[in-house]
Amino acid sequence: MINDALAPLLAVYGGTFDPVHYGHLRPVEALAQLAQLSRVIIMPNNVPPHRPQPVANSLQRKEMVALAIADRPLFELDERELRRSTPSYTVDTLNAIRQEKGARQPLAFIIGQDSLLTLPQWHQYQRLPQLCHLLVCRRPGYALTMSQPEHQVWLNQHLTQDIHELHRRPAGCIYLADTPLWDISATLIRQRLEQHQTCDDLLPPAVADYIQRQGLYQHTANA
Ligand code: ATP
Repeated sequence: MINDALAPLLAVYGGTFDPVHYGHLRPVEALAQLAQLSRVIIMPNNVPPHRPQPVANSLQRKEMVALAIADRPLFELDERELRRSTPSYTVDTLNAIRQEKGARQPLAFIIGQDSLLTLPQWHQYQRLPQLCHLLVCRRPGYALTMSQPEHQVWLNQHLTQDIHELHRRPAGCIYLADTPLWDISATLIRQRLEQHQTCDDLLPPAVADYIQRQGLYQHTANA
């Protein structure tokens, strides 16, 4: 039977998650309300090409994400990047998902404002809106406009505030979501843990317990 109705918007959230924290989870939960997302695929990176290597290994980062989302039905873990042995450029991953799901599937990639600002340094970033929408969560301390005028022009060409566009079109829009600010980073958590400071309000208790059991982030100076 041919189904002419569009499939629900598939939203993918990539990151290093070294470790996963409330600054990852809560903005995306708020985004899901604003953009009417019923499910978010959370996808830990294997070897992020534009960043230093993670402190926790792939298995540990995957297990922390699994613990963090165990009581958060919005999220579903996707291990595809962790199974790869080669660097996983976002554009390649999204291209693979696009091939799997077909040209009509509404597809989105979720990023924070800091990632939007550095997007022009990503491999083939201009292909991203051809493959998917970009949904951007706010993050404290990061400018709301691009530093280079030509990048702002590029951004403006794709901006939408109409969430129905995200559900109706397969790709092509950038949505800057007015999500609440959480001033949390994995770097801050690694630094606090190294200094034996608590991180109670920064990440889920199950993740904190796991970090302690594994002895993670005890000596990560400059990581
Ligand atoms: P690190 O401190 O190690 O650089 P991070 O906390 O920025 O890590 P990542 O795993 O690199 O976390 O980020 C994955 C995604 O989550 C990115 O798109 C990033 O912009 C977003 N993100 C991370 N922290 C926040 C936050 N506090 N608010 C909004 N978005 C965030």
